[in-house]
Amino acid sequence: MYDKSNVFAKILRGEIPCKKICENEYGVSFHDISPCASQHALVIPRGEYVNFYEFLARASAAEQAGFWTVVKETADALGIRDDFNTWASAGDAPFVKQSVPHFHLHLVAGERLKDPTYF
Ligand code: 5GP
Repeated sequence: MYDKSNVFAKILRGEIPCKKICENEYGVSFHDISPCASQHALVIPRGEYVNFYEFLARASAAEQAGFWTVVKETADALGIRDDFNTWASAGDAPFVKQSVPHFHLHLVAGERLKDPTYF
């Protein structure tokens, strides 16, 4: 069940600040507060989805399209369209344990991860 007290819900409600990159009706992107590389953005939907599967299963086509538009515009804004989330920039440890229970996508780029134990 979705917990409205998670930190990204607070960001969406404007209760805590973030360094916003771009947004539309369906999603928002902002810089990660604790970047693991020189470029580390987070993209979140405005809708209440705990994780990736729930987003895929429950979000409307418009929400999903709007979310991916924010991903693309974030990559454009950061100038990382050619290398985000590639093996070279995101490291070789694909297993990620989610810590914030609001679905989000990490856009990591610029170098190999500073902390290889991040994941
Ligand atoms: P997860 O571990 O769930 O995949 O990623 C959660 C991410 O949210 C982490 O990279 C963490 O640094 C970031 N994060 C946690 N709290 C905040 C916050 O208050 N503001 C921002 N901008 N990022 C946060």
